Amino acid sequence: MTVKPGATCRAVRLEAPGRKLVDAVLEPTAPGPGEVLIRVRAAGICHSDAHYRAGIGSTNPPVTLGHEVAGVVESAGAGVETPRAGDRVCVHYLVTCGECRDCRAGREQFCATGRMIGKDRDGGYADLICIPAVNAHPLPDFVPFEQGAILMCSSATALHALHKARVATGDAVAVFGIGGLGVSAIQLAHAMGAAAVYAVDVNPVKLALAKAHGALPIDARAGDPVQAIRTATGGRGVDAALELIGFARTMEQAVETLAPQGRAALAGLTQERMSIAPYRDILNREAEIIGVSDHLASEIGELMGFVEGGKLDLSRTVTRVVPLDAARINGVLDDLEAFRDDVRTVIRP
Ligand SMILES: [Zn+2]
Ligand SMILES: [Zn+2]
Repeated sequence: MTVKPGATCRAVRLEAPGRKLVDAVLEPTAPGPGEVLIRVRAAGICHSDAHYRAGIGSTNPPVTLGHEVAGVVESAGAGVETPRAGDRVCVHYLVTCGECRDCRAGREQFCATGRMIGKDRDGGYADLICIPAVNAHPLPDFVPFEQGAILMCSSATALHALHKARVATGDAVAVFGIGGLGVSAIQLAHAMGAAAVYAVDVNPVKLALAKAHGALPIDARAGDPVQAIRTATGGRGVDAALELIGFARTMEQAVETLAPQGRAALAGLTQERMSIAPYRDILNREAEIIGVSDHLASEIGELMGFVEGGKLDLSRTVTRVVPLDAARINGVLDDLEAFRDDVRTVIRP
């Protein structure tokens, strides 16, 4: 399969960590065997992208960022039966070997040769993206491209975090950080049967959004959120706490809010070190601290089921749309670094 002669592909790229992203025009890649070329219709701008731009986390520059991608299949390479040209798809961003011990055991995010789209290889801040066909998942007609894109990172990781925290019917759950992950985590926790979801943030816009999704807002500016959650739960604490921001202090708070046998799932990225009181916080409660790394391809179908069943509604999550333009995208990344109001911005090429 070839790309139309003379076709070009605009892209916004990371040339070097610590520098602003730049506009580029690339020659589109033709899909090889087992690959598909996708015309990007929406690409989410993620807090991780701000980290990659800043040089936190390894990247493979020059590289096109963008790991939250939805679009339409333009063409398919040899041997690809699905998806077909014209199909709506969303992109699972981890490209893994499928054969190693970790891949076979269903923990493919630890595949030693795994590469992340939009970090280790070119991503979706572009007109076109070429990926393995197995990474293109069907996007139902009723899910807009913008929502399909952000489902692939924040929602999928929120679902994985809830799985890791073993959230079950009747649980009290605390969610620290109401960004893209937090809004999904609140809704998915309810869908999984949580009896109460406490949403901790410092931003009134995000607290209002959490409340609109049925959570009990905890304003961390108004006082100690741990104390507020203890009071709200009659002193018991929560069965599961998710840290989705990436600060040592909020990770400590997530641990400190746990009930007996509670689980704290940490998904926020930070290089800070955290401090806990082992007897008080862990041993005495048989509490668990659990790391959360990405999500699994197998969770994407489950996620679509929640969307289809009306349990996960991201219509209020995409708060801004920008064109494929380096200056605009850099501005959004600046806002993310400063934790300004937007929950999720999506690029529409
Ligand atoms: Zn992301
Ligand atoms: Zn592997």
